[in-house]
Amino acid sequence: MKNKKKEISVLIIYTGGTIGMVHNPETGSLVPIDFRYISDHVPELKKFGYDLHSVSFDPVKDSSNIDPAVWIKMADIIDENYDNFDGFVVLHGTDTMAYSASALSFMLENLNKPVILTGSQLPIGLLRTDGKENLITAIEIAAANENGVPSVPEVCIYFDNKLTRGNRTTKLSAEHFDAFSSPNYSYLAEVGLHIKYNRNQITPAQRNRKLTVHKVFNTNVAILKLFPGITRNLVHAIVNTNGLKGLIIETFGSGNAPTYDWFLEELLGFISKGGIVLNVTQCHGGSVEMGLYETSRQMLSAGVVSGRDLTSEASVTKLMHLLGRYTLREEVIKGLNRSLAGEISFS
Ligand code: ASP
Repeated sequence: MKNKKKEISVLIIYTGGTIGMVHNPETGSLVPIDFRYISDHVPELKKFGYDLHSVSFDPVKDSSNIDPAVWIKMADIIDENYDNFDGFVVLHGTDTMAYSASALSFMLENLNKPVILTGSQLPIGLLRTDGKENLITAIEIAAANENGVPSVPEVCIYFDNKLTRGNRTTKLSAEHFDAFSSPNYSYLAEVGLHIKYNRNQITPAQRNRKLTVHKVFNTNVAILKLFPGITRNLVHAIVNTNGLKGLIIETFGSGNAPTYDWFLEELLGFISKGGIVLNVTQCHGGSVEMGLYETSRQMLSAGVVSGRDLTSEASVTKLMHLLGRYTLREEVIKGLNRSLAGEISFS
């Protein structure tokens, strides 16, 4: 048994984020430093019976500087090391963690191993840091298996005692340790004395799946959050942005927008030029239901696609991924209307 446990291997990919930050003595601002700083502050890492390895980005990043090129780098590291490790922990800043988790979930098709993103609200060097527990438990989850079958073969976020599906997660608080929420999908695991896996919510492992990594994103997308008083000028400027391929409109409630003629005309103009409009709600939880009210029925007739219960982070990364993967507009729309990695509910 002991030997068996020793064989479990986890790769820690350190991209940056508050967890490894210190104050720059000149400016007083927090900046990320190398992984050794983290491991020096978590001597518990040596107590794991697992074979732990780490790879660090150079330079490490505040996650506000993370973009599709960095997602590709993360996916490449996972791909190159896929056969040699049982699980992966990605240390990442919290600000864009839900975007990276969503992007990775779409890039890593047929993933059959845990990829657990975590970080912290307070740097690891501070006494009250949340980083230690987050890191230690994330490793535990990345290593967890039942008879050799990984317990959570998904891209997830582990933070403050909760494991959530990455593409269902959104950052909720810039203050609380409980920084993330998964408004439309139950936790994959809850952590107290025990790690309790919510097995019905976890995508089962399938040994015969071969990992396929999709590395192309098309960033010609925009998110337009509606608000009462929005002007035609603004909408017109956005839909006429040079090269724009996909527009996410963050609508009210269950997917509603003003029924002004001009609003629909602008959307129709964009759609008739081959653009794709995806409707997601600006509410924190719940789903778009196009046609429920007159204020969304017209958009449905105009060819606006329902984003159902997608998070904002999942909608923008999914659209960039699909626009990068397919050239045919119909294929992109087909992709939007299905679940690629458990990011959307159909009920
Ligand atoms: N600005 C930091 C980052 O996203 C915040 C954090 O890690 O919590 O990298």
